[in-house]
Amino acid sequence: MRWSGQTIDRQQEALPIPGLARSVRTPEFAGITFHEVIAKSALNRVPAASSMPFSWTVNPYRGCAHSCVYCFARNTHRYLDFDAGDDFDRQIVVKTNVAAVLRAELGRRSWRRELVALGSNTDPYQRAEGRYGLMPGIIRALAESGTPISLLTKGTLLRRDLPLLAQAAEHVAIDLAMSIAVFDDDLQRAVEPGTPSAAARLATVRAAAEAGFDVTVFLMPILPWLTDSDDDLERAVAAIADAGARRVVFGALHLRPGAKEWFLEWIAREHPELERGYARFYAHDSYAPAAYRRRLAERVRPLLRRYGLAPVDDDDQPEARRAARASASSALSPAALPTLF
Ligand code: SF4
Repeated sequence: MRWSGQTIDRQQEALPIPGLARSVRTPEFAGITFHEVIAKSALNRVPAASSMPFSWTVNPYRGCAHSCVYCFARNTHRYLDFDAGDDFDRQIVVKTNVAAVLRAELGRRSWRRELVALGSNTDPYQRAEGRYGLMPGIIRALAESGTPISLLTKGTLLRRDLPLLAQAAEHVAIDLAMSIAVFDDDLQRAVEPGTPSAAARLATVRAAAEAGFDVTVFLMPILPWLTDSDDDLERAVAAIADAGARRVVFGALHLRPGAKEWFLEWIAREHPELERGYARFYAHDSYAPAAYRRRLAERVRPLLRRYGLAPVDDDDQPEARRAARASASSALSPAALPTLF
């Protein structure tokens, strides 16, 4: 492999990353270090207490070079002795054998073909996927085992896999969702500096819709005072409808520990005029005040109806989750599945 000469041996000994094979840098990904690991497992069980609409996740990458300032997954990087700020954006753990391990796990007789979510923690179509190409193997393994898939991303690289996903969707239920929260290009580059533009993501939504998918757009997080004006919301909803999405999940920014410190620092630096407002909203809670969220829903819901989009308020997630579970359970029985790919 062309990166062979760029292994960073010194770091390998110091890092507490299970299964670390080597750490590499490349000029194509300036400032980013990839830590390639040999994973022992691929499927992660979601805690029973979670209200998520899935019981299992697969995360081929840890850390995310999309670098969203508000990213809720930041804190998970601390388990690897990295920090939740720059390290989360630049120290990316890559499970190079994830597809093979997943295939073995899915082949167990005990596997019940429950919905598996991709993109629930870090983004499976972040830029690294262009180099490592892990997703096609994951999709094939899931589809061939009769396992329904839920996929959420901000990555336009999703387009590469649409033919494969369309083929898989003939045999298992596949929910595709694109996250697009910031439609002003300058703000998007500031708050999500590693992500493709909103226009590029909308084009990917359109491509997925044309490939036959009912695409959901996650219009979240909506940022108080930055993206929540009536004009902002209408512009976003109109663009999403125009791209051919079917459904919108929306919600105000929430800031978990790890993300909260990082985001509030960013606000103080980039928008000092909003510092007091954000401190007031988020000082004692991860969620924006209930009154703000209620008012936001009152403004977004009529817009979604007007543009023919099915609304799902983030505060209504338990209902949405039950619906997603029901739709996922409609996957074909494994007996009906040939080897697909
Ligand atoms: S794309 Fe998702 S996982 Fe990646 S940094 Fe942004 S919010 Fe986090």
